[in-house]
Amino acid sequence: MKRFESLKDIVDNGFCLSCGLCKELAPEGTIEMQWAPNGHLRPRTSRPLTPEEDAAIVQICPGINQTGPFDQPLVQPSNVWGDLRRVVMGWATDPDTRFQASTGGVMTSINRYLLDSGRVTFVLQVRAGGPKSTDSEPVLIRDPKDLITGSQSRYASSAPLSAVRAAIELNEPFSVSLKPCDIAGIRNLQRVDERAKRLIVYTQTMICGTVPSLDTTMDFLRREGVNPDEEYPVALRWRGNGCPGPTLAVMPDGREVTGLYNDMWDNNPWTTQFRCKVCPDAIGLQADITTGDAWPNAMANGESAGTNVIIARTAIGEEVLAECERLGYLTTKPAQDGVLDYVQPHEANLRKSFGARLAGAVVTGTPMPNFTALAEQECAAELTSEELANVFKGTVERKRAGQGDERTSMDDENQSRL
Ligand SMILES: Cc1cc2nc3c(=O)[nH]c(=O)nc-3n(C[C@H](O)[C@H](O)[C@H](O)COP(=O)(O)OP(=O)(O)OC[C@H]3O[C@@H](n4cnc5c(N)ncnc54)[C@H](O)[C@@H]3O)c2cc1C
Ligand code: SF4
Ligand code: SF4
Repeated sequence: MKRFESLKDIVDNGFCLSCGLCKELAPEGTIEMQWAPNGHLRPRTSRPLTPEEDAAIVQICPGINQTGPFDQPLVQPSNVWGDLRRVVMGWATDPDTRFQASTGGVMTSINRYLLDSGRVTFVLQVRAGGPKSTDSEPVLIRDPKDLITGSQSRYASSAPLSAVRAAIELNEPFSVSLKPCDIAGIRNLQRVDERAKRLIVYTQTMICGTVPSLDTTMDFLRREGVNPDEEYPVALRWRGNGCPGPTLAVMPDGREVTGLYNDMWDNNPWTTQFRCKVCPDAIGLQADITTGDAWPNAMANGESAGTNVIIARTAIGEEVLAECERLGYLTTKPAQDGVLDYVQPHEANLRKSFGARLAGAVVTGTPMPNFTALAEQECAAELTSEELANVFKGTVERKRAGQGDERTSMDDENQSRL
């Protein structure tokens, strides 16, 4: 069986998930994250890497190294959903935050509590920033008032870990508020870097349906009558200001082009990176808290006041959630049994099928990643052998058709939604 041996192996086989961590592992200026033709940020090297530099990346890159919690005793174990110490529904008590945020402002409110309480001195998250309105930048936020600038879902590559070295160099306790695969990169780093382990005191993430290619947003603009090759938006917000809120592009002449969230996603072809299709953990198994949308069957049915489903997975996650409730940062209510299967069925399906998908990739020549303690067998046992065979066959066919990291459309067996 082939193994990944270099950064090039990771990118060429479609296992890069655009976190930016490799840029931080190599000497400064060796790797930059740049937009690739497939509409994702990918590492580009200024010179060939040494074998030692490649080895350091292969050891830590979350694209090919993902660890779950299933090698440890869990408090409230679920093979599919991980440790469910506490599951509640909730939202930001502050109505402005709840309205402006992506869902109900839970992530922003928890970050605010962490800063106000002095438990951390800054938060690593992302916000709009860069030469183009579709670009995002990692940012270290110290002032609670500035948290709202990162309070939305950036539905494009963002390379948030390309700021982690700068964050660690500050030698101050901080928290990380990013996607599940970004948290996997943080955990990998913490396993080998004592400072990362000591200074990153809290992690939270969102349930993640995939990072789509930029083409998805460009196609949306075209459907709304804009040709982005001729005029590019100067500002772009995918959602928020309601739940899910409109997708809003501000054009150079000041006019606003807007569409409903469902105009962006429903019944329209959209593409993602290959790594998302074999993702073993899009639900933040390694984070202290995971939160996501709470729409029945994952379908946004018009606008509503944002409500998150919230999972506290660790002791610190449980304690932070309780403090946020006690001090009024969050308003919560009990969740019904089985709520996660009800509001995130696509994520349950992906967990049950990722092993068969991966097997389909490996038999067509993809190197085997290092995915461990993820309850792969137990999750697969919840599908029939026919369902697993279909998933396996679908991946083999896609790989044989040359659909690696290039324009891989979402498919029926993983109706991931954003
Ligand atoms: C790419 C992507 C896919 C998603 N898919 C799903 C899904 O399938 N199902 C579901 O229930 N929810 C999904 N979400 C999550 C959902 O959109 C909300 O982000 C989540 O419910 C948290 O809402 P909130 O109001 O508490 O967050 P907010 O308070 O608005 O805070 C948002 C946080 O997300 C971070 N963030 C935003 N965009 C990115 C990015 N590109 N990379 C890293 N961090 C980012 C910000 O830094 C901030 O910390 C997705 C989000 C993203 C970014
Ligand atoms: S997943 Fe992250 S660390 Fe791995 S190659 Fe891509 S950008 Fe680099
Ligand atoms: S689906 Fe997985 S790999 Fe893709 S962006 Fe989400 S967490 Fe990362």
